[in-house]
Amino acid sequence: MRTFNFSAGPAVLPEPVLRRAADEMLDWHGSGMSVMEMSHRGKEFIGIASKAESDFRKLLAVPDNYRVLFLQGGAMAENALIPMNLLGEKTSADYVNTGEWSKKSIKEAGKYCKVNVAATAADRDFTYVPAQDTWQLDPNAAYVHICTNETIGGVEYNWVPDTHGVPLVADMSSHLLSRAVDVAKYGVIYGGAQKNIGPAGLTLVVVRDDLLGHALPITPSAFNWKEQADNDSMLNTPPTYSIYIAGLVFEWLLEQGGIEAIEKRNIAKAALLYDYLDQSRFYSNPVARGDRSRMNIPFRLADAALDDAFLKGAQQNNMVQLKGHRVVGGMRASIYNAMPVEGVQALVAYMKEFERTHG
Ligand code: PMP
Repeated sequence: MRTFNFSAGPAVLPEPVLRRAADEMLDWHGSGMSVMEMSHRGKEFIGIASKAESDFRKLLAVPDNYRVLFLQGGAMAENALIPMNLLGEKTSADYVNTGEWSKKSIKEAGKYCKVNVAATAADRDFTYVPAQDTWQLDPNAAYVHICTNETIGGVEYNWVPDTHGVPLVADMSSHLLSRAVDVAKYGVIYGGAQKNIGPAGLTLVVVRDDLLGHALPITPSAFNWKEQADNDSMLNTPPTYSIYIAGLVFEWLLEQGGIEAIEKRNIAKAALLYDYLDQSRFYSNPVARGDRSRMNIPFRLADAALDDAFLKGAQQNNMVQLKGHRVVGGMRASIYNAMPVEGVQALVAYMKEFERTHG
């Protein structure tokens, strides 16, 4: 029996994807080998990679003037690679600080350029997205960076900022493919795969083609978006098995009815949990209602001394990885695309019972 895994990432994957990968493990489509064993330059793997890219494009309706890169290094590496690839002749970039992952991006970018923090949610402990009219944008910035879903704080953008022609760069690591995105409003979208997309090791970068070719000379070739784009992400060996699993996840998403269908499901799953939290005096979520994440839902018990008992009981009921990130404490339920509604129902039922017996 599979557990309900509420991990923030690496995270739950769709069971049909895992079954199919298991079926294909020893002999992929009569090739006599596992995908892991294939040359990335062979026709089998080239076929796998190009199908993955075209399904991803279909899912997000990626316009033709955007390149989709399958890279390595995680979102953390991209925090350095974004200024390296985008600065060109410019010397500064704007960042909006909505929480822990924004802070990491800001810190890293500071090694390569002047960082202007255009807005911050520090005044309310990173529980909201600052309204656009409070942002101090610099028209000369190379780009504006935002984190559209703060995995730790559980804060999500429900709108797209207007950056007046300056390229908008978004870390979508923890909600990419969970909702519709108007890609054309962004210059760059990036994220690690290990939440909604597939195994760790794969990093997606979606970049508008006019933004390619401005890399600083120090940019490593393997992380130079233009060089990778010119080589279909195969300048060096890509994370082949992660790309294959991501491809199966894309196929699964298309079978589910695509992003529109999965977004509806995600809205319903998140509402189940938030509605319960909001009527409870035992549990609470600190995030402004309009800015709450559908993917990562932090909550606290009225008495933190009960945290351990809560987690232990959850484990006994087949629910794991509910402990909140150490920076914010409390609990966190990550309910990505592959978390079945039954998992959220089971969590709410357990929370009710725990409240009844400990409240
Ligand atoms: N940004 C966000 C929003 C994240 O959730 C994470 C990982 N939890 C990262 C960046 C860092 O990603 P990675 O560990 O893949 O480098």
